[in-house]
Amino acid sequence: MIRLHPIPGADYLCPYCQVPLAVKDWYIPGMRTLAYASCPECRKDYYADLPAGHGLLHPVLLERESGKTHDPYGADWFAKWLRDSYARRVQRPILFQTEDFRPLRKPILLNCLDALYGHSLLKLLNAQYYIDHRGDLDLVILIPRNLRWLVPEGVASVWTLDLPLSRGTEWNDWVAMEIKGRLEAFDECWLSLAISHPHPRDFSIERFTRVKPFPVGEWGDRLEKPAITFAWREDRPWWNSAKGSLNQSRLRRLKRKILGPPSTEAKVREQKKRVIALAETIRRTNPRVDFAVAGIGTPGGFPGWVSDMRVLQVDEDTERIWCERYSRSHVVVGVHGSNLLLPSAHAGAVLELVPPDRWSNLVQDILVPPQDVRSLLYRTRFLPLETPAGMVAEVLTSMLQYTPEAELSFTPPWTDHKVLGPDPWTPAEKRRRFSRNWGQVG
Ligand SMILES: [Zn+2]
Repeated sequence: MIRLHPIPGADYLCPYCQVPLAVKDWYIPGMRTLAYASCPECRKDYYADLPAGHGLLHPVLLERESGKTHDPYGADWFAKWLRDSYARRVQRPILFQTEDFRPLRKPILLNCLDALYGHSLLKLLNAQYYIDHRGDLDLVILIPRNLRWLVPEGVASVWTLDLPLSRGTEWNDWVAMEIKGRLEAFDECWLSLAISHPHPRDFSIERFTRVKPFPVGEWGDRLEKPAITFAWREDRPWWNSAKGSLNQSRLRRLKRKILGPPSTEAKVREQKKRVIALAETIRRTNPRVDFAVAGIGTPGGFPGWVSDMRVLQVDEDTERIWCERYSRSHVVVGVHGSNLLLPSAHAGAVLELVPPDRWSNLVQDILVPPQDVRSLLYRTRFLPLETPAGMVAEVLTSMLQYTPEAELSFTPPWTDHKVLGPDPWTPAEKRRRFSRNWGQVG
């Protein structure tokens, strides 16, 4: 954490004079948590990202007069958000709901506002660190309405803004004044670093969703009804994105050359075909499979034995029902993106399909518990987006069937000399039972 109020604890250089800026104040007009600073030489005034959230990695400086940004760390998207929001700044009241759970004595602010759902959720996961380790501080969460249900027990105050994701980057001077008014009476106020990807040791997902993740230790016992959930999204569907690759037919390549890339609707149709093929292939291997599709989309069109949990409008109840479904799933499958954060946090394993432009963002959308690294490696798979349903089914089936064996090979107590010494026959017995549950033995 750093000091926010009265004067933020941050250092900047004037990009023109290379002298330290005099930090005078702070300003929070929405998702940006900014210092207000001036150059003693050229007298220019700046707003500058405080080291919190993505400001930890690439803080941007904005000239107050011209709105020009300086981005010495080269994150153009982050600089652009600031530049554009400042150029279009507004001053309009929005619903700002305050819930106090105890009086604030030494407040620390965790700003979870953002334009991306995943960013907001990941910032919120920082809350547990302060609740568990900093009882001397009173945690104040600044949160968009759609994530309010995830705020854990133990916070001092929740400030909920009715700010849709589509307006997540908004610079609103009214919001800045509201926040200023609530904090300026305090002698001191602190700011959470809002680490963009908090370490798994610092949070437990059930503190946020109130849903316990899949018990990996019971994987084999639960194989009597293997459960798979496909995390559906339509803005980034599962389709064959490999343009002109050798594994495409000449006709298909020619068609794409003439007609151009397929429409989103066509990609979503292809996704549906692929998901059905995936479910049917696994079902041929194991007829007891419990297959579901969850996510935002128009329900309908799947075989009757597939649970279609898709909806067009998400609310808290739907999110909870989905989390409970993930927590009953051996494996969740889905295309890379923040919509995999909660599925991966609750399911026993994840199989992610990665679009060509997302390999650099790998793991950013996966939440894992702080467990044995080999077990996690086994239970986390990444395949290219264009991987056909048959191959995904092959990988999935092997995960379903052999994860219990991997657990016996890699994790305690089965790798503990002291436990195995007195009863070395237990792993073999367990293995036999898992195989029987899958249907291969007995
Ligand atoms: Zn200067």
